[in-house]
Amino acid sequence: MSRVCILHVGGTIGMALTERGWVPAAGFVERFLTSIDSQPSLPEWELHRLEPLLDSANMRPRDWVRIAEEVASRYDAFDGFVVLHGTDTMAYTSSALSFLLAGLGKHVVLTGAQLSLANVRSDGREHLVTSILLATLPIPEVTLYFGQRLLRGNRAQKIHNRDFVAFASGNFPPLARIGVGIDIDSDLIRPAGDGLHTVDMVKEPEVIAIRVYPGIQEPLLRRMLAAPVDGVILETYGTGTFPSEDAGMIRAIAEAIDRGVVVVNCSQCHSGRVQQGLYGTGRALQDIGVISGHDMTPEAALTKLYCLLAADRPLDVVRRKMELDLAGEISPA
Ligand code: ASP
Repeated sequence: MSRVCILHVGGTIGMALTERGWVPAAGFVERFLTSIDSQPSLPEWELHRLEPLLDSANMRPRDWVRIAEEVASRYDAFDGFVVLHGTDTMAYTSSALSFLLAGLGKHVVLTGAQLSLANVRSDGREHLVTSILLATLPIPEVTLYFGQRLLRGNRAQKIHNRDFVAFASGNFPPLARIGVGIDIDSDLIRPAGDGLHTVDMVKEPEVIAIRVYPGIQEPLLRRMLAAPVDGVILETYGTGTFPSEDAGMIRAIAEAIDRGVVVVNCSQCHSGRVQQGLYGTGRALQDIGVISGHDMTPEAALTKLYCLLAADRPLDVVRRKMELDLAGEISPA
Protein backbone atom coordinates (compact mmCIF):
# COMPACT_ATOMS: atom_id res chain seq x y z
CA MET A 1 0.00 0.00 0.00
CA SER A 2 1.42 3.41 -1.03
CA ARG A 3 1.70 6.20 1.54
CA VAL A 4 1.22 9.84 0.69
CA CYS A 5 2.18 12.79 2.87
CA ILE A 6 -0.12 15.81 2.53
CA LEU A 7 1.41 19.12 3.62
CA HIS A 8 -1.25 21.79 4.13
CA VAL A 9 0.50 25.13 3.69
CA GLY A 10 -2.56 27.34 3.12
CA GLY A 11 -4.55 28.82 0.24
CA THR A 12 -8.20 29.14 -0.71
CA ILE A 13 -8.72 25.37 -0.64
CA GLY A 14 -8.88 25.45 3.16
CA MET A 15 -10.12 29.01 3.70
CA ALA A 16 -13.13 30.29 5.65
CA LEU A 17 -15.15 33.42 4.87
CA THR A 18 -14.91 36.06 7.61
CA GLU A 19 -15.76 39.76 7.86
CA ARG A 20 -12.21 40.38 6.51
CA GLY A 21 -12.81 38.19 3.44
CA TRP A 22 -11.40 34.69 2.91
CA VAL A 23 -8.68 33.73 5.35
CA PRO A 24 -6.80 30.47 6.00
CA ALA A 25 -8.49 28.16 8.50
CA ALA A 26 -7.97 24.68 9.86
CA GLY A 27 -10.70 22.05 9.64
CA PHE A 28 -12.03 21.98 6.08
CA VAL A 29 -9.20 19.87 4.68
CA GLU A 30 -9.32 17.54 7.70
CA ARG A 31 -13.12 17.11 7.42
CA PHE A 32 -13.00 16.42 3.68
CA LEU A 33 -10.18 13.87 4.02
CA THR A 34 -12.01 12.10 6.82
CA SER A 35 -15.15 11.88 4.65
CA ILE A 36 -13.29 10.01 1.88
CA ASP A 37 -10.98 7.99 4.08
CA SER A 38 -12.91 4.74 3.71
CA GLN A 39 -12.41 4.63 -0.10
CA PRO A 40 -10.43 1.43 -0.77
CA SER A 41 -8.83 2.83 -3.95
CA LEU A 42 -7.26 5.72 -2.04
CA PRO A 43 -3.65 5.32 -0.87
CA GLU A 44 -2.88 5.71 2.82
CA TRP A 45 -2.35 9.38 3.63
CA GLU A 46 -1.10 11.47 6.51
CA LEU A 47 -1.89 15.17 6.85
CA HIS A 48 0.54 17.73 8.29
CA ARG A 49 -0.49 21.31 8.76
CA LEU A 50 2.27 23.91 8.49
CA GLU A 51 1.44 26.63 11.01
CA PRO A 52 0.56 29.34 10.46
CA LEU A 53 -1.50 28.52 7.38
CA LEU A 54 -0.84 31.24 4.81
CA ASP A 55 -2.60 33.07 2.05
CA SER A 56 0.12 32.45 -0.53
CA ALA A 57 0.39 36.21 -1.13
CA ASN A 58 2.22 36.22 2.21
CA MET A 59 4.74 33.56 1.27
CA ARG A 60 8.44 34.38 1.17
CA PRO A 61 11.55 32.47 0.12
CA ARG A 62 11.98 31.13 3.65
CA ASP A 63 8.58 29.38 3.22
CA TRP A 64 9.90 27.58 0.10
CA VAL A 65 12.84 26.39 2.18
CA ARG A 66 10.54 25.28 4.97
CA ILE A 67 8.37 23.21 2.62
CA ALA A 68 11.51 21.64 1.09
CA GLU A 69 12.72 20.75 4.58
CA GLU A 70 9.33 19.23 5.50
CA VAL A 71 9.47 17.04 2.38
CA ALA A 72 13.10 16.08 3.01
CA SER A 73 12.52 15.14 6.66
CA ARG A 74 9.72 12.72 5.68
CA TYR A 75 11.18 11.61 2.37
CA ASP A 76 11.95 8.01 3.31
CA ALA A 77 8.63 7.41 5.08
CA PHE A 78 6.37 8.22 2.11
CA ASP A 79 5.99 7.28 -1.56
CA GLY A 80 4.84 10.72 -2.65
CA PHE A 81 3.87 14.20 -1.45
CA VAL A 82 0.94 16.59 -1.95
CA VAL A 83 1.38 20.24 -1.04
CA LEU A 84 -1.90 22.16 -0.55
CA HIS A 85 -1.05 25.75 -1.41
CA GLY A 86 -2.66 29.03 -2.43
CA THR A 87 -2.86 29.64 -6.15
CA ASP A 88 -1.49 33.21 -6.16
CA THR A 89 2.16 32.23 -5.70
CA MET A 90 1.91 28.48 -6.32
CA ALA A 91 3.97 28.74 -9.52
CA TYR A 92 6.79 30.42 -7.57
CA THR A 93 6.78 27.73 -4.89
CA SER A 94 6.58 24.86 -7.40
CA SER A 95 9.50 26.41 -9.31
CA ALA A 96 11.55 26.97 -6.16
CA LEU A 97 10.95 23.40 -4.92
CA SER A 98 12.13 22.02 -8.27
CA PHE A 99 15.51 23.68 -7.62
CA LEU A 100 15.65 23.06 -3.87
CA LEU A 101 14.78 19.34 -4.02
CA ALA A 102 17.77 18.22 -6.09
CA GLY A 103 18.08 14.53 -6.94
CA LEU A 104 14.34 13.97 -6.43
CA GLY A 105 13.14 10.40 -6.99
CA LYS A 106 9.49 10.79 -5.85
CA HIS A 107 6.51 12.81 -6.96
CA VAL A 108 5.78 16.12 -5.22
CA VAL A 109 2.43 17.58 -6.41
CA LEU A 110 1.27 21.09 -5.56
CA THR A 111 -2.43 21.78 -5.77
CA GLY A 112 -5.08 24.10 -4.40
CA ALA A 113 -8.45 25.48 -5.44
CA GLN A 114 -10.28 28.47 -6.83
CA LEU A 115 -13.17 27.78 -4.43
CA SER A 116 -12.74 26.73 -0.80
CA LEU A 117 -13.78 23.26 0.36
CA ALA A 118 -16.33 25.24 2.39
CA ASN A 119 -18.14 25.85 -0.92
CA VAL A 120 -20.36 23.10 -2.29
CA ARG A 121 -18.93 23.76 -5.80
CA SER A 122 -15.29 23.61 -4.69
CA ASP A 123 -12.83 22.41 -7.31
CA GLY A 124 -10.58 21.50 -4.41
CA ARG A 125 -12.24 18.10 -3.88
CA GLU A 126 -11.20 16.67 -7.24
CA HIS A 127 -7.81 18.40 -7.04
CA LEU A 128 -7.05 16.88 -3.65
CA VAL A 129 -8.23 13.34 -4.43
CA THR A 130 -6.53 13.24 -7.84
CA SER A 131 -3.31 14.70 -6.43
CA ILE A 132 -3.18 11.97 -3.76
CA LEU A 133 -3.46 9.36 -6.53
CA LEU A 134 -0.95 11.16 -8.78
CA ALA A 135 1.56 11.42 -5.92
CA THR A 136 2.00 7.65 -5.91
CA LEU A 137 2.92 7.47 -9.61
CA PRO A 138 6.53 7.27 -10.83
CA ILE A 139 6.80 10.94 -11.76
CA PRO A 140 10.00 12.04 -9.98
CA GLU A 141 9.34 15.74 -10.38
CA VAL A 142 7.78 18.73 -8.66
CA THR A 143 4.48 19.23 -10.48
CA LEU A 144 1.35 21.35 -10.22
CA TYR A 145 -2.08 19.75 -10.64
CA PHE A 146 -4.99 22.04 -11.53
CA GLY A 147 -7.97 22.04 -13.90
CA GLN A 148 -7.39 18.48 -15.12
CA ARG A 149 -3.78 19.13 -16.16
CA LEU A 150 -0.60 17.99 -14.49
CA LEU A 151 2.03 20.63 -15.28
CA ARG A 152 5.75 20.69 -14.62
CA GLY A 153 6.06 22.93 -11.57
CA ASN A 154 8.76 25.20 -13.00
CA ARG A 155 6.82 25.71 -16.26
CA ALA A 156 3.48 26.70 -14.76
CA GLN A 157 2.01 30.20 -14.52
CA LYS A 158 -1.25 31.37 -12.99
CA ILE A 159 -3.24 32.65 -15.96
CA HIS A 160 -6.75 33.12 -14.55
CA ASN A 161 -8.38 34.17 -11.30
CA ARG A 162 -11.92 33.04 -12.12
CA ASP A 163 -11.74 30.07 -14.45
CA PHE A 164 -11.31 26.66 -12.91
CA VAL A 165 -8.44 26.22 -15.37
CA ALA A 166 -6.20 28.67 -13.54
CA PHE A 167 -2.76 27.50 -14.65
CA ALA A 168 -1.02 26.82 -17.93
CA SER A 169 2.51 26.11 -19.06
CA GLY A 170 2.88 28.03 -22.30
CA ASN A 171 6.28 26.61 -23.19
CA PHE A 172 5.84 22.98 -22.21
CA PRO A 173 3.03 20.48 -22.77
CA PRO A 174 1.16 19.07 -19.76
CA LEU A 175 2.84 15.99 -18.26
CA ALA A 176 -0.58 14.38 -17.95
CA ARG A 177 -4.21 15.06 -18.85
CA ILE A 178 -6.76 13.88 -16.35
CA GLY A 179 -10.29 13.10 -17.44
CA VAL A 180 -12.03 9.77 -17.13
CA GLY A 181 -8.54 8.30 -17.28
CA ILE A 182 -5.10 9.53 -16.29
CA ASP A 183 -3.12 9.95 -19.52
CA ILE A 184 0.54 10.50 -18.79
CA ASP A 185 2.91 11.61 -21.53
CA SER A 186 5.76 9.43 -20.29
CA ASP A 187 8.23 10.83 -22.85
CA LEU A 188 8.06 14.14 -21.01
CA ILE A 189 8.73 12.83 -17.51
CA ARG A 190 12.24 13.48 -16.20
CA PRO A 191 14.37 10.54 -15.04
CA ALA A 192 14.60 9.93 -11.29
CA GLY A 193 17.42 11.75 -9.51
CA ASP A 194 20.29 10.11 -7.70
CA GLY A 195 18.89 10.64 -4.20
CA LEU A 196 17.42 13.68 -2.54
CA HIS A 197 19.81 16.37 -1.37
CA THR A 198 18.28 19.70 -0.45
CA VAL A 199 20.27 22.75 -1.47
CA ASP A 200 21.87 24.58 1.45
CA MET A 201 20.68 28.16 1.58
CA VAL A 202 23.37 30.11 3.39
CA LYS A 203 22.45 33.65 2.30
CA GLU A 204 19.30 35.73 1.81
CA PRO A 205 19.99 37.44 -1.50
CA GLU A 206 18.01 40.39 -2.80
CA VAL A 207 16.47 39.24 -6.09
CA ILE A 208 13.98 41.60 -7.71
CA ALA A 209 11.74 41.60 -10.78
CA ILE A 210 11.57 44.71 -12.96
CA ARG A 211 8.76 44.77 -15.48
CA VAL A 212 9.66 47.00 -18.41
CA TYR A 213 6.85 49.33 -19.53
CA PRO A 214 6.49 52.19 -22.01
CA GLY A 215 7.72 55.29 -20.19
CA ILE A 216 10.15 53.63 -17.76
CA GLN A 217 12.95 56.12 -17.06
CA GLU A 218 16.57 56.06 -16.03
CA PRO A 219 16.34 57.65 -12.53
CA LEU A 220 13.76 55.12 -11.34
CA LEU A 221 15.59 52.21 -13.01
CA ARG A 222 18.84 53.29 -11.30
CA ARG A 223 17.11 53.36 -7.92
CA MET A 224 15.70 49.86 -8.51
CA LEU A 225 19.13 48.52 -9.49
CA ALA A 226 20.95 50.10 -6.53
CA ALA A 227 22.57 48.09 -3.71
CA PRO A 228 21.70 45.79 -1.97
CA VAL A 229 20.26 44.17 -5.12
CA ASP A 230 22.06 40.93 -6.09
CA GLY A 231 19.90 39.68 -8.96
CA VAL A 232 17.32 41.07 -11.36
CA ILE A 233 14.74 39.40 -13.56
CA LEU A 234 14.17 41.96 -16.28
CA GLU A 235 10.72 41.28 -17.72
CA THR A 236 11.09 42.57 -21.27
CA TYR A 237 8.80 42.73 -24.29
CA GLY A 238 8.32 40.03 -26.91
CA THR A 239 11.56 38.24 -27.75
CA GLY A 240 13.51 40.14 -25.09
CA THR A 241 13.40 43.71 -26.34
CA PHE A 242 13.99 46.84 -24.25
CA PRO A 243 13.74 50.63 -24.85
CA SER A 244 17.39 50.66 -25.91
CA GLU A 245 17.38 54.17 -27.41
CA ASP A 246 17.67 55.43 -23.85
CA ALA A 247 21.45 55.10 -23.51
CA GLY A 248 21.22 56.11 -19.84
CA MET A 249 19.07 53.08 -19.01
CA ILE A 250 21.41 50.72 -20.86
CA ARG A 251 24.33 52.32 -18.98
CA ALA A 252 22.50 51.86 -15.65
CA ILE A 253 22.07 48.13 -16.33
CA ALA A 254 25.69 47.79 -17.54
CA GLU A 255 26.97 49.45 -14.36
CA ALA A 256 24.88 47.13 -12.21
CA ILE A 257 26.31 44.10 -14.05
CA ASP A 258 29.83 45.49 -13.51
CA ARG A 259 29.08 45.67 -9.76
CA GLY A 260 28.23 41.96 -9.81
CA VAL A 261 24.44 42.11 -10.13
CA VAL A 262 23.15 39.14 -12.18
CA VAL A 263 20.58 40.40 -14.71
CA VAL A 264 18.40 37.87 -16.55
CA ASN A 265 16.16 38.69 -19.50
CA CYS A 266 12.71 37.00 -19.41
CA SER A 267 9.82 37.82 -21.70
CA GLN A 268 6.47 39.15 -20.50
CA CYS A 269 4.89 36.78 -23.06
CA HIS A 270 3.33 33.59 -21.69
CA SER A 271 4.71 31.55 -24.64
CA GLY A 272 7.82 31.80 -26.78
CA ARG A 273 11.46 32.40 -26.01
CA VAL A 274 13.93 35.22 -25.56
CA GLN A 275 16.24 35.81 -28.53
CA GLN A 276 18.31 38.81 -27.55
CA GLY A 277 20.04 38.97 -30.95
CA LEU A 278 16.86 39.13 -33.01
CA TYR A 279 16.21 42.88 -32.71
CA GLY A 280 18.60 45.71 -32.08
CA THR A 281 16.51 46.54 -29.01
CA GLY A 282 17.36 43.16 -27.49
CA ARG A 283 20.90 43.04 -28.81
CA ALA A 284 21.70 46.11 -26.70
CA LEU A 285 21.07 44.01 -23.57
CA GLN A 286 23.11 41.07 -24.84
CA ASP A 287 26.06 43.39 -25.58
CA ILE A 288 26.29 44.53 -21.94
CA GLY A 289 26.13 41.02 -20.48
CA VAL A 290 22.44 40.51 -19.70
CA ILE A 291 21.81 36.75 -19.50
CA SER A 292 19.11 35.24 -21.69
CA GLY A 293 16.30 33.56 -19.77
CA HIS A 294 15.53 31.54 -22.95
CA ASP A 295 12.01 30.12 -22.46
CA MET A 296 11.97 30.18 -18.65
CA THR A 297 8.97 31.73 -16.95
CA PRO A 298 9.80 34.80 -14.84
CA GLU A 299 8.66 32.72 -11.84
CA ALA A 300 11.18 29.96 -12.62
CA ALA A 301 13.96 32.46 -13.37
CA LEU A 302 13.40 34.43 -10.16
CA THR A 303 13.33 31.38 -7.89
CA LYS A 304 16.28 29.74 -9.69
CA LEU A 305 18.39 32.88 -9.36
CA TYR A 306 17.37 33.18 -5.70
CA CYS A 307 18.37 29.58 -4.97
CA LEU A 308 21.73 29.85 -6.77
CA LEU A 309 22.63 33.11 -5.02
CA ALA A 310 21.36 31.84 -1.65
CA ALA A 311 23.59 28.79 -2.02
CA ASP A 312 26.50 31.25 -2.34
CA ARG A 313 27.76 29.85 -5.63
CA PRO A 314 30.54 31.92 -7.31
CA LEU A 315 29.09 34.53 -9.65
CA ASP A 316 30.47 32.95 -12.83
CA VAL A 317 28.82 29.65 -11.83
CA VAL A 318 25.51 31.43 -11.13
CA ARG A 319 25.64 33.16 -14.49
CA ARG A 320 26.47 29.92 -16.32
CA LYS A 321 23.81 27.87 -14.49
CA MET A 322 21.11 30.44 -15.23
CA GLU A 323 21.44 29.46 -18.89
CA LEU A 324 21.61 25.71 -18.21
CA ASP A 325 18.59 23.47 -17.83
CA LEU A 326 18.75 22.29 -14.19
CA ALA A 327 15.27 20.88 -13.57
CA GLY A 328 13.42 20.90 -16.89
CA GLU A 329 12.83 24.67 -16.81
CA ILE A 330 14.54 25.49 -20.15
CA SER A 331 13.90 23.85 -23.55
CA PRO A 332 16.73 23.41 -26.04
CA ALA A 333 16.69 26.21 -28.65
N1 ASP B 1 -5.17 34.32 -2.18
C1 ASP B 1 -5.27 32.88 -2.28
C2 ASP B 1 -3.88 32.30 -2.05
O1 ASP B 1 -3.07 32.39 -2.91
C3 ASP B 1 -5.82 32.49 -3.60
C4 ASP B 1 -5.99 31.00 -3.85
O2 ASP B 1 -5.55 30.16 -3.12
O3 ASP B 1 -6.64 30.68 -4.87
O4 ASP B 1 -3.62 31.79 -0.99
